[in-house]
Amino acid sequence: MLIVQKFGGSSVANAERVRHVAGIIADTYAEGHDVVVALSAQGDTTDELIEKAREINPRPSKREMDVLLSTGEQQSVALMSMALEAIGLPVVSLTGWQIGMETNATYGAARIIRVSTERLRRELDKRRIVIVAGIDRNEDITTLGRGGSDTTAVAIAAVLHADKCQIYTDVEGVYTADPRKVQGARKLNEITYDEMLELASLGAQVLMNRSVELAKRYGVVIEVLSSYVRKPGTKVKEVAKKMEEMKISGIAKDNDVARVAVVGVPDTPGMAFRVFNAMARAKINVDIILQSYGKAGTNDISFTVPIGDAEAAAAALEDVQEAIGFDHISVDTNVCKVSIVGAGMMSASGIAALMFEALYDAKINIQMISTSEIKVSVLIDKAYADQAVQAIHNRFFG
Ligand code: ADP
Ligand code: MG
Repeated sequence: MLIVQKFGGSSVANAERVRHVAGIIADTYAEGHDVVVALSAQGDTTDELIEKAREINPRPSKREMDVLLSTGEQQSVALMSMALEAIGLPVVSLTGWQIGMETNATYGAARIIRVSTERLRRELDKRRIVIVAGIDRNEDITTLGRGGSDTTAVAIAAVLHADKCQIYTDVEGVYTADPRKVQGARKLNEITYDEMLELASLGAQVLMNRSVELAKRYGVVIEVLSSYVRKPGTKVKEVAKKMEEMKISGIAKDNDVARVAVVGVPDTPGMAFRVFNAMARAKINVDIILQSYGKAGTNDISFTVPIGDAEAAAAALEDVQEAIGFDHISVDTNVCKVSIVGAGMMSASGIAALMFEALYDAKINIQMISTSEIKVSVLIDKAYADQAVQAIHNRFFG
């Protein structure tokens, strides 16, 4: 078999962890499999590099940031290869560009365009273990963003038609909620691509959402499992067996959100268009939208944006304030989005009501609501986020 394995930052945080992971790789190899490994930067390396950059320049270019951050992954792959050399195994570390992995030029959040298989195959034919860093290139060095090595692993599994794609992490799989924060969180045996994609996009960091998107497109079955204990993990696939009596698959929390309110918008046609056109021109993604009656013939339009875009959103709106004729803007960064996710949720009545009841019982106010076929999201005060997730979890899984 050809097996792709990915190990996250905490799984390779120090020499002891690197040796431990080398043991997992060595065992897989000893079973006769071809092994390709994708690694993240060790432990807090990425955060430390970001801090180093800040000391020099608070607003570095994204290009130079990627040159810097890529060094973290390069350290990991070299050290892992050395650990495997130390136990006498044939191994080679390669960066993304050495294996012909090309991306677009969106530094810090690049998308993979193609991966060549030639070099990978050549190394595997020599029965070498290949350790890959997710440092990619267009003409320059690019990185895929937080969780990028998940996506590197899935992309390699897709082009090589790997038999398995294992994402090793510091928990035993995908749970009904973050097992480090929510009491009683349950491990799922299986989850569908669509549900996992929602959970990942709505704040469950266990997999990068791009990796799930790619896996769905190319039919790569992902297994999420622990690098600490040897136990079966969670399979992410097209169709998943539901554990019976489960109304939803999971709950996620996203702190990366701010609420922008445009107050006193004249109640005439075209106003929503003008507000959101300003956001589109500033390339700001808008998520939940709410329009409500304001004072005397005006409306208030509120919406959420990624927290890092809040200032830019306010600035873009100020530019069109006169043209639109609204009264003022207010920006609230003390908010959090809490979501429940489950396939077929809309066909089962009362699921949203259960969530709202749990929040009501916990005396937590809901500021905004949005729904889709497979999720319900609410915006609440950030101070109550953890309490809200626990209360909702107790209601569905208690
Ligand atoms: P890695 O460094 O291995 O990529 P991450 O920190 O990116 O690990 O992802 C693993 C973490 O995701 C876990 O430690 C856990 O706290 C968090 N997490 C959030 N939601 C979930 C969930 N639903 N299931 C499992 N883990 C979750
Ligand atoms: Mg991760």
